[in-house]
Amino acid sequence: METEIIKIDRKNIDIEKIKYAAGVINSGGIVVFPTETVYGLGANGLNEEAVRKVFIAKGRPQDNPLILHISHKDELSRLVKKIPPDAHKLMTEFWPGPLTLIFEKSGIVPKVITAGLDTVAIRMPRDPIANMLIRESRVPIAAPSANISGKPSGTDARHVIEDLKGKVDVILDAGDSEVGLESTVLDITVQPPVLLRPGGVTIEALERVAGRIIIDKAMGKLSSNEIPRSPGMKYRHYSPDADVYVINGELDKVVSKINEILAVNNGKGIKTGVLATDQTMCKYVVENILSMGDRNCPETIARNLFRLLREMDERHVDVILVEAVDSKGIGFAVMNRLKKASGQKIVNV
Ligand code: AMP
Ligand code: MG
Repeated sequence: METEIIKIDRKNIDIEKIKYAAGVINSGGIVVFPTETVYGLGANGLNEEAVRKVFIAKGRPQDNPLILHISHKDELSRLVKKIPPDAHKLMTEFWPGPLTLIFEKSGIVPKVITAGLDTVAIRMPRDPIANMLIRESRVPIAAPSANISGKPSGTDARHVIEDLKGKVDVILDAGDSEVGLESTVLDITVQPPVLLRPGGVTIEALERVAGRIIIDKAMGKLSSNEIPRSPGMKYRHYSPDADVYVINGELDKVVSKINEILAVNNGKGIKTGVLATDQTMCKYVVENILSMGDRNCPETIARNLFRLLREMDERHVDVILVEAVDSKGIGFAVMNRLKKASGQKIVNV
């Protein structure tokens, strides 16, 4: 398939380009578009055939449901059975933005979107390109992250193009994503609401608005006979080709442990990269080292993480050692992604 790559400037959006991409969505095509979280692989969410193409393009398992993206709260009512009181508060505070809410679905939402569940995940992105594209399409856009299933999500145009060129109709290239991690997924069909995936909106912020929130068990490790409430939780995710280890503990001990592993791996000829932070970059002597950012600014670390995991793969390292970060605020979502990227290979020191 021929993929058209269209550069688009978030600060000066060419509406003709948006109209063109909306036309592709309306004729059942697939458009990769930027959102503030990660790039999305979008299709008309009410067109079953188009949605099936999304699953195929990214190699996504059929039982992992998609999020529907809307451009205005008014579009919600026809997609859901009811809007619980908590939802109004949460939408007022966090929409448009990186919060996905789970509702009971209405009859017009195709089963293929929800992987057969009676609930549907809905979000209203704040990226102006995403918002305009949905508005011009006049349909909800179903969009998982724009990457081959299992890989780190696409947060910069270069990696998105690498994964999806030849598999989609259009890629709207707007450079880097603002948040860099996927949306927070919150199930509000139950009381108290249940957090199914941490993300761009922090737990602390959610609790300020909705009161107590339960953190779903599947966020940790599921035993093999447990069924997750959010099907996506059971899959290997965010994984680069290299083996990832997360080193967790007091910072000076983390640094010592990483240096110890580097020495051992060096002796064995295992090519090892380090994802460090601005505070620790000078503590290692190794060729393949990248900084995730300032430890005091976890938002930067979130924004850089997926891109850096992919850059390590481009350097063909066998192993990536990643410094754990403080799990406050968005750091909780960063640690969740690192646990998944490493397949739970956490070294506590
Ligand atoms: P992605 O498309 O990669 O951003 O992943 C979407 C996430 O939302 C996955 O973890 C899904 O399992 C989750 N999700 C989507 N729809 C539902 C739903 N109806 N109930 C629970 N989780 C959902
Ligand atoms: Mg994804």
